[in-house]
Amino acid sequence: MLQNHEECLALLEQIRWNGKPKCPYCESTNATPYKNERRYHCNECFTSYSVTVGTLFHKTHVELQKWFVAIHLVLNSSGGISVRQLAKEIGVNKNTACYMIERIHKAVMEEKQLLEMLVAIIE
Ligand SMILES: [Zn+2]
Repeated sequence: MLQNHEECLALLEQIRWNGKPKCPYCESTNATPYKNERRYHCNECFTSYSVTVGTLFHKTHVELQKWFVAIHLVLNSSGGISVRQLAKEIGVNKNTACYMIERIHKAVMEEKQLLEMLVAIIE
């Protein structure tokens, strides 16, 4: 299992970008990394971004480790997992668990490839 947020981001960067940062706004690969975090400054459109922009992980304050476990549980539990179970498993409140389940189901339609690759790796 992945140890920390940093490792999770590195894994996502491998999956989405093949390790080479690509701006989600203008698709440029001309980027400068920020020093202490896995964020990048786009030298074409001058925005900053991380690998989670445009994915189900964008704009949540739930740690990526928890997301990855949740994805595994939601996609691999026979008959699905309940909000209450998920909340207990990963230590979030029910509202958060409910949001995550909905978001993961949506991602199954919209970000299938990303989810499939994640599940294959984190299993
Ligand atoms: Zn850009």
